[in-house]
Amino acid sequence: MDQAPAPAALVGVLLVIARCCDDDGRGSAQTVAVIAEKAGKSEGQARRDIARLRELGLLLLGDQSLVDHLPNGQRPTVYDLPIHISGPKVFLAPRHRPERIAPEGKRRRAIPASVQAAVYQRDGHRCVACGTLDDLTLDHIYPWARGGPDTIDNLRVLCRPCNSRKGARIMAGA
Ligand SMILES: [Zn+2]
Repeated sequence: MDQAPAPAALVGVLLVIARCCDDDGRGSAQTVAVIAEKAGKSEGQARRDIARLRELGLLLLGDQSLVDHLPNGQRPTVYDLPIHISGPKVFLAPRHRPERIAPEGKRRRAIPASVQAAVYQRDGHRCVACGTLDDLTLDHIYPWARGGPDTIDNLRVLCRPCNSRKGARIMAGA
């Protein structure tokens, strides 16, 4: 591939998107608001960065059917990285393997898209604690950090504020 390198100013947004892709660089689905927040930019700037990354061919439109289950107005755009894997897969040494980073900055593996979709479906695309439709995340009921699995039964939809409050309770030993 013959591509211009990403201008340094675009790397922040590109990384935020790349960290939500699966191991093949596919299916990153976050709203612009979430991308902007994680990249520490305004929504307008994040939108311009994404447009520029697409012009440069560093971001491709992904499979939008991955987010068909989300309500209109909260449906993020799905992006893929321009990585094409053919033939035998190359496995990197574990310490070099890219890992997804959760919003809290903890390292975390990807939850399969089919499991995510099933959990959102079951919980009605709302926070199960307060009912909001905004800023939703998936929460491990038995914490992932303590070995809780990425299964439908161990996951639920929480908004980010409720998720943070839960985190605070666990830290307090509740
Ligand atoms: Zn909530």
